[in-house]
Formats: sequence, structure tokens, C-alpha cells
Amino acid sequence: MPLRAAFFDVGNTLVHLRLDRMAEAFAAEGVGREVEAIRAAERRARVRLDPIVAGRGTTEGLDVMQSYLRLILEEVGVRWDGRGPRLVERLRALGRVERLWSEPDPDARAVLAALRRRGLSVGVISNSDGTAEQSLRDAGLLDAVDFVLDSHLVGVEKPDRRIFQLALGRAAVAPAEAAFVGDLYSIDVLGARRAGMTGILLDPIGAWGERDCPRARDLVEFRDFVLARADA
Ligand SMILES: [Mg+2]
Repeated sequence: MPLRAAFFDVGNTLVHLRLDRMAEAFAAEGVGREVEAIRAAERRARVRLDPIVAGRGTTEGLDVMQSYLRLILEEVGVRWDGRGPRLVERLRALGRVERLWSEPDPDARAVLAALRRRGLSVGVISNSDGTAEQSLRDAGLLDAVDFVLDSHLVGVEKPDRRIFQLALGRAAVAPAEAAFVGDLYSIDVLGARRAGMTGILLDPIGAWGERDCPRARDLVEFRDFVLARADA
């Protein structure tokens, strides 16, 4: 069956952390790190976060954000001493005043537009706290998608198959006609698969080791995967 819908995760897929703001917060705690060093650390940290969130039943608790930030810190080589909790607090405070998730993926706009031009339905499935739409608006991407499903608003979270089924309903396509891309194997890929659609792992640096799923290094590779399987 040709693909007729392409669905996207938000965090670390369409929208990234403001690493410049994170670097400033790090520096304020005496941890001088370049943005690129934090980027590389985050890409390793998310692989370590995966089994933690997989066992927890939610990706949205404060404890999850704390674990995530702690893993990023460990990956940039910061020992978890007094600075750790202070940095986490500083980043959380920053996140409250200024959305940390607001940096659009550099390829997102062009990729979303290309998929829509080919007639695909383009939707978003996000585990969020009710701010997924705002995040997309801040990143200048909200008008580039057909719909947004925010777990907080629909009452069900990835990897539960029901949030993916809601997306299928919104796009009016069968499971085999949809592909979903996200950055967490247990949440995004396994959830999509449970709903019968193709789940693709965004793996920019090959950090995930052996996984039984298709991967894309970036959104352009995801676009190519989808367009190769879409109607002519
Ligand atoms: Mg994500």
C-alpha cells in the first residue's frame, strides 16, 4: 500500500532544544561547553533516556526531565556534584520563562512542504504538557502541518497505540498507509508499530546500535523514505 500520511514527533525531531541558551546556563554554573559539545552529548543522552522512560509509563513527569538533563550533563563530562542540581534548576527556570524547545530543525519546513506538495497528510504526535502547538508556533512550523495531537490534550501518550490511531483517524488513512518518525525507539518506533504503521527512528549519529527498524539520519532521509513509497 502506498503511503498517504507522514507523522512527526516534536521534541528532538521537528523542534530542538535551544542549545545556545543551555550553553549559557552551563557557563553560569562554571561549566564552559561549546554548543556542539552539548549537541553531541544530548544525542547520546537520549539513547540512555529511552529505557528509563520505557519503564515509566510517561515521558512527561518532572523526574523524566530531571533524568534527561542529568544524562546530558554526564555526557558533557560534568560530575553530579552540587552543580548538577543547580544547573537542572537553572534550566527548568529558563524553560518556564522562555520555551527551551523552540529551535526548528533546519530541514523541517522544506520537508513538511515537500510532503504536502505530494498530497500526503502531515500530522504531529507529541508527548507534551499541552504546549506542543505553542512549541511549533515558536519554531515557525505550526502552519506547515495539518494537525497536532498533544498527549496532554488527548489524554493518551506514546507509546500507547491509541494516540497513533487518533492520527490515522485525523488523516483518514489505514495504518499501512502511514509512517511516523521520532527520536526515541521505545516511545516512537514501538508505539507506531503497535498501531500498525511504519515507525522510523531518527538516529543522527548512529548512536542506537542494533535496532529492528528503519532509520533516518535526518528529516531529509525520512522525506526520501516516504516519497519513495508514496503514490506517484
Ligand atoms: Mg522526541
